Amino acid sequence: MKVTIIGGGLAGSEAALQLAKKGVRSDLCEMRPDRTTGAHKTGYLAELVCSNSLGSNDPHSASGLLKQELRMLGSFLIKFADECSVSAGNALAVDRDLFAQKVTDEIKKNNLINLVNAEITEIPAHNPVIISSGPLTSDSLAKKIIEFTGRENLYFFDAIAPVIERDSINFEKAFTANRYNKGDSPAYINCPMSREEYEIFYETLVNSPVIELKEFEKNAKFFESCLPVEVLAKRGKDTLRYGPLKPVGLTDPRTNRENYAVVQLRQDNKAATLYNMVGFQTNLKWPAQKQLIQCIPGLENATITRFGVMHRNTFIHSPSVLMPTLQAKNRRELFFAGQITGVEGYTESIATGLLAGINAAGLLSGQQTLIFPQTTMLGALCSYITHEEHGNFQPINSNWGLLEPPVRQKNKKLRHELLSERALEVYRGLSF
Ligand SMILES: Cc1cc2nc3c(=O)[nH]c(=O)nc-3n(C[C@H](O)[C@H](O)[C@H](O)COP(=O)(O)OP(=O)(O)OC[C@H]3O[C@@H](n4cnc5c(N)ncnc54)[C@H](O)[C@@H]3O)c2cc1C
Repeated sequence: MKVTIIGGGLAGSEAALQLAKKGVRSDLCEMRPDRTTGAHKTGYLAELVCSNSLGSNDPHSASGLLKQELRMLGSFLIKFADECSVSAGNALAVDRDLFAQKVTDEIKKNNLINLVNAEITEIPAHNPVIISSGPLTSDSLAKKIIEFTGRENLYFFDAIAPVIERDSINFEKAFTANRYNKGDSPAYINCPMSREEYEIFYETLVNSPVIELKEFEKNAKFFESCLPVEVLAKRGKDTLRYGPLKPVGLTDPRTNRENYAVVQLRQDNKAATLYNMVGFQTNLKWPAQKQLIQCIPGLENATITRFGVMHRNTFIHSPSVLMPTLQAKNRRELFFAGQITGVEGYTESIATGLLAGINAAGLLSGQQTLIFPQTTMLGALCSYITHEEHGNFQPINSNWGLLEPPVRQKNKKLRHELLSERALEVYRGLSF
């Protein structure tokens, strides 16, 4: 018996490779490049649509812990990400093309995975199915998912940050440094602003035109950690200075002092020729974006290779639809994985793809499906999306607040170390 996987993104690719590892065949159905999503640019599987960073790699951070758990569970995509990593301080950032190409090559050469280039417009009625069609699920499939779940899909918007050519940055003003000098070598480019420069930047930003939302997008709900800079700016003049433009921990070598605000850029490709603007998601009209970026000190002559844009994000109401094994409550051989389950983020999407793959294989071989304890980040995430009594269910990424039971330790650093050690202990001695 075969598993049908709908969507060859991060979750679908990980699921297919996990199934193959267990000797289970799958049809991995991906509609690109013939049909695109609006955000993807290539025909590769597992394309990263925005930032090239999978978040912190420090096992004593929530996102780093999830990565470490995935390594111990034998995640293929995290292994490939490690192999394609670029310098990014404490974060795991990758050369996006190398990474996606590697995933595609591995899947193409695996003879248990049949790659089908087609848009799937129905949920197959028989055999196990994994729906991993992502936040930009095609409309025809989204309609069928709504029919299945019996609820309207919820939606909101993510925003993409612009990418700049390194050669066009003025290093007489910009400087390289990691916040609090963490990491081996300085990975970030920092564009410092004085109070006067910030005020000019702020006035330009709040007066810049945005791309108009379509009628069906008017009631947009933004995910808090992906808010566009223009939305943050409207909350108050200093909101950005306490958010993505915070200057703390970044000493300007020219003055030996911290600045009033700092725009950070992070390496985007292996060759280090491209840098993305950290936390600078925006939906401003492109000429206005260019004007705004070029009023940032150090970016006066910036060459923008990719402008910021915003996109729809589709996800199901998992607390009503799914069990923590990621199986649908009313059809046990139907699994959901990735961002469509209401987890948020690249690593979280890979993680749920891994679990859906392992559990679909388990179901086929008559074994028990797995639920990890809530002391692990993976278990806690799955528990949160499937159990929480959310008045207003919104996607979630890995964070310490999910882990149960809490650990009593006042010192935050020590507490995180204890939580991390407790989680990793669960996986020691297990074989997957
Ligand atoms: C614009 C945008 C920016 C984002 N930026 C970030 C970020 O910077 N950092 C971060 O951690 N997360 C980000 N996310 C969130 C999320 O981590 C990514 O979307 C991630 O790729 C989700 O993984 P996935 O496997 O669930 O979906 P995807 O990786 O999107 O994979 C789904 C696949 O399904 C295919 N598909 C869709 N419908 C069909 C169909 N009917 N038939 C066949 N194939 C289909 C798509 O073409 C796609 O390849 C962003 C999301 C969006 C929308």
